[in-house]
Amino acid sequence: MTPSSPASASPSIAERVAEVRARIDAACRAAGRDPADVVLTAVSKTQEPEAIDTILATGQRVFGENRVQEAQGRWTDRIAGLPGLELRLIGPLQTNKVEDAAALFDVIETLDREKLAWALAEAAEKRGRSPRLLVQVNTGAEPQKAGVLPDAADALIAAARETYGLTVEGLMCIPPADKDAEPHFAMLRGLAERNGLSVLSMGMSGDYETAIRCGATHVRVGTALFGERNRP
Ligand SMILES: *Cc1c(COP(=O)(O)O)cnc(C)c1O
Repeated sequence: MTPSSPASASPSIAERVAEVRARIDAACRAAGRDPADVVLTAVSKTQEPEAIDTILATGQRVFGENRVQEAQGRWTDRIAGLPGLELRLIGPLQTNKVEDAAALFDVIETLDREKLAWALAEAAEKRGRSPRLLVQVNTGAEPQKAGVLPDAADALIAAARETYGLTVEGLMCIPPADKDAEPHFAMLRGLAERNGLSVLSMGMSGDYETAIRCGATHVRVGTALFGERNRP
């Protein structure tokens, strides 16, 4: 270990990971929830290999990426040596990238339209296996944001299940950046309950404790673990 650093020095990745894990545990306890029921997804987009190695050394095995090609570059050569690794796609997916995504990711969190459900079903048939799926809901109905609109979510979930034979295990949302996230988390939870879905991916660096209070099963944390991202 390095000698003790002044309190003003920016924390190491290992220290950040410990801090986030401790805060997740505390948020669970405050909400009367079992910490084992909340999964920390480390969002590794744009991070350098050294940062990934450091976080892997802490035992972290669940990672989120928002671009298929970037994730292939970062993970393809590491996968064989990392049993227990779980890769989750948290960014928008184009239909022409579905086969690559299905080959790499364990979970795709961004199913948000019927055409994508169709493409995922085709890829599953071809490959004989399919990633687990979450439906992304645009809870703030923001025009620039991906995700199915809230009032179309039930129909998309039903179509994914019934028309395309896909297994949807939960929902994901990214609330508007400048607003209180809590009503959005509550909306997502209500949608999940009424559709019999158990997985809720919600909460990022700024609001993962609120999300845990609202029932998140997966929190997606980047900056609070790695520090500020380099722009790609
Ligand atoms: C980048 C990203 C995150 C992580 O954001 P931070 O604020 O750095 O924690 C979470 N979810 C999605 C979908 C992202 O693209």
